[in-house]
Amino acid sequence: MPMILHSELPASLAECQGVDLHMHSTASDGALSPVDLVALCHRRGLTHMALTDHDTVAGVAAAASAAEALGIRLLPATELSSQWQGLNIHVVGLLPGEAQGALSTGLESQAQAREARAEEIAARLEKVGLSNALARAREQAGEQRPLGRPDFARALVDAGLVPDIATAFKKHLGSGKPGDVKAHWPYLSEVVEWIVDSGGVAVLAHPLRYGLTRRKRGLLLDAFREAGGEAAELISGFQNADATRDLARQLDERGLYGSLGSDFHFPGGPVAPGAMSPVPRTAVAPVWTHPRLSTFAARLN
Ligand code: AMP
Ligand code: MN
Ligand code: MN
Ligand code: MN
Repeated sequence: MPMILHSELPASLAECQGVDLHMHSTASDGALSPVDLVALCHRRGLTHMALTDHDTVAGVAAAASAAEALGIRLLPATELSSQWQGLNIHVVGLLPGEAQGALSTGLESQAQAREARAEEIAARLEKVGLSNALARAREQAGEQRPLGRPDFARALVDAGLVPDIATAFKKHLGSGKPGDVKAHWPYLSEVVEWIVDSGGVAVLAHPLRYGLTRRKRGLLLDAFREAGGEAAELISGFQNADATRDLARQLDERGLYGSLGSDFHFPGGPVAPGAMSPVPRTAVAPVWTHPRLSTFAARLN
């Protein structure tokens, strides 16, 4: 007898509940271990989730066994750093299985890029008074994982050079500041190709968070699609309703699938797993209806 696949997830984005396809763990700059994150998602009633740590899938195996034990569907994923026209653009790869092919080697080169970048960020922060910057950031990160800007932000706060993380980014690490080192990241088109080569779906992360005009955002979406990208996050955490409707039109015009996620990093912050702005009525198809992700949305009966 053939098995019949029933979708547990709705065919419309607006009716969707209990889904969060963008979250971080201690494998990158999140506060919770992969296992604790999955447990929190379960407590909050999520049925479908993706772990999207920056440039790594190191947390996926632990999260997957925790998810299986709790009956949550977990999609292996990662959020890749790239550059496009001098901007730092993030691309989420939603993967039907383990990372393979060009994505495996790509993840190795991302780890090296992060290492080289951390050294450059450290050198720049020493010039503004943070001595032993690399060692201090490493101490903030705690475990042996690639460093990110949040580790340097915490080091700046810890050294008393800035009052809080927000100021650390505003003065030293945010877009256009000395600690915003992008040169090490591959081009947008490359990371999209890695994801496609691994059998995954490339999703442009938080399109409203790059400070772009509508026109420039359209150009970004065009370049992304040209490279093989097939989806974008219609909802990322909490965002303006008018901007969301406008973004939905831009996705619809290009036939892109829509994804959604909280971009959760730590408890007590602005977002929680599954907490995000509501989806407007839209014809944009949910990314889980993409043929490459059918087993994620489906239930075996
Ligand atoms: P990186 O991956 O090393 O480039 O660091 C980027 C990460 O820093 C983002 O994913 C956020 O988690 C965090 N971040 C970026 N901007 C800010 C900000 N203004 N305040 C706090 N955290 C930020
Ligand atoms: Mn982050
Ligand atoms: Mn991001
Ligand atoms: Mn993220």
